[in-house]
Amino acid sequence: MNILSNQDLFRQACYVNGQWIDGDNGIAVTNPADQSVLGTVPSLSVEQVNDAIVQAHAAMAGWSARTAKERAKILQRWFELIEANIDDLGTIMTLEQGKPLQEAKGEIRYAASFIEWFAEEGKRVYGETIPQTVSTNRLSTIKQPIGVCSAITPWNFPAAMITRKAAPALAAGCSIIIKPASETPFTALALAELAAQAGIPAGIFNVITGDARTLGEPLTKHELISKFSFTGSTQVGRKLYEQCASTIKKTSLELGGNAPFIVFDDADIDKAVASGMLAKFRNGGQTCVCVNRFYVHDAVYDEFLEKFTARVAELRVGNGLEQNTDIGPMITRRAIEGMNVLLEDALAKGARLVDLGTEIEEQGNYINPKILVDVDDSMDIVHEEIFGPIATLIRFTDEDEVLNRANDTIFGLAAYFFSQDVRRVYRVAERLESGMVGINTGMISNEVAPFGGVKQSGLGKEGSRYGIEDYLKVKYLCIDIA
Ligand code: ADP
Repeated sequence: MNILSNQDLFRQACYVNGQWIDGDNGIAVTNPADQSVLGTVPSLSVEQVNDAIVQAHAAMAGWSARTAKERAKILQRWFELIEANIDDLGTIMTLEQGKPLQEAKGEIRYAASFIEWFAEEGKRVYGETIPQTVSTNRLSTIKQPIGVCSAITPWNFPAAMITRKAAPALAAGCSIIIKPASETPFTALALAELAAQAGIPAGIFNVITGDARTLGEPLTKHELISKFSFTGSTQVGRKLYEQCASTIKKTSLELGGNAPFIVFDDADIDKAVASGMLAKFRNGGQTCVCVNRFYVHDAVYDEFLEKFTARVAELRVGNGLEQNTDIGPMITRRAIEGMNVLLEDALAKGARLVDLGTEIEEQGNYINPKILVDVDDSMDIVHEEIFGPIATLIRFTDEDEVLNRANDTIFGLAAYFFSQDVRRVYRVAERLESGMVGINTGMISNEVAPFGGVKQSGLGKEGSRYGIEDYLKVKYLCIDIA
């Protein structure tokens, strides 16, 4: 990591109770671009995590007793330090995650925006007074920090998935213990270094590393943890939700998606193509809101396919640190093998790959973007999350039919559609079974809007004024003044 200008940001230890701590064994972290080892992080024991939880619990008393305004000032400093170190943070992220440097820096900005937003929202946590039902009673509510929080985060957004949870927790007056994905711990540890520099007190923001399954136990089962937040696959989320049941924890889950992208015959096709590129290929297709299925109306299908193909053929695959790279390496070889299983199934059932003419040799973690046509609902690729740069195109003719097909999934995270008819816009937006709908746009995420899914895509909302509610408990006060 000697390409960093501030070496303090490269930490190979966990940050617990204001100290950098080590464990018995290390986990090597590799660069997905060339498999070189970037460094190691500790594999903490359950005992070390239990200690961290007790310390975070003790530290919370002082933090929650401060005013929201005092906490906001410290969070604002953290936000400013992250912005000031954007080049190094982006470089660390590209090295461990693979995404192009410009995208990595974009994520750092996005991650920082949650800290700024929730620092402000923390000042607007209002209770209420309630008209009494007995004349001598006075009824009211207060909102208090929920308690010690824990979080497990994924590798696809190594910074933003942390701040989206930590910022509302800290603004509300809670402490938090975060276990980042073992593929991308260095971004999380760099954020911890900046949290320390910003003056966040010891024990309030903690980052632990180690075996996910082992550390997942105390993070979901310890009695001193009141709230657990997870971003990752539905499969793992289901298991962690079950683990949280043993102590009835409040739980937020941001799980898998299967986003449809519907292009109606009255759509602005150029706009649909440009938006489809972003919604499909951002982060190499490795986001939970990435398009999984393009449904294109028969009347505009040929035009869409031709224009989309021309744009996809321009995408450059390469090392994320190189300028002009659009798609970096995939996170692991195993991820590519999973995509290939879906691809083979689709090809065996009659789908065809469009010739893009620009392919690089697929080696290591590199995979070319692909467009698959003649896709139908019998193929697994329509029902499972692809999580990679493969676009599947499906022809449709009828609005009712396409809505039924779009909703025919256990997932309900994001959906996108393109239409210039205002009546259709409302009709379709209301019928889509998803937590978020992009209408004539492929970019929907920001800190001020509620991010989250329905069905088996999860529980709760992150970002927005709703995002802090998950870190608060409502207490009802009934006073008799007779
Ligand atoms: P992804 O496909 O994005 O890696 P996962 O759901 O497998 O999604 O992983 C998301 C996060 O959950 C990662 O930090 C991973 O280490 C963690 N994780 C995976 N399996 C478990 C488990 N059984 N218990 C606790 N954490 C887990």
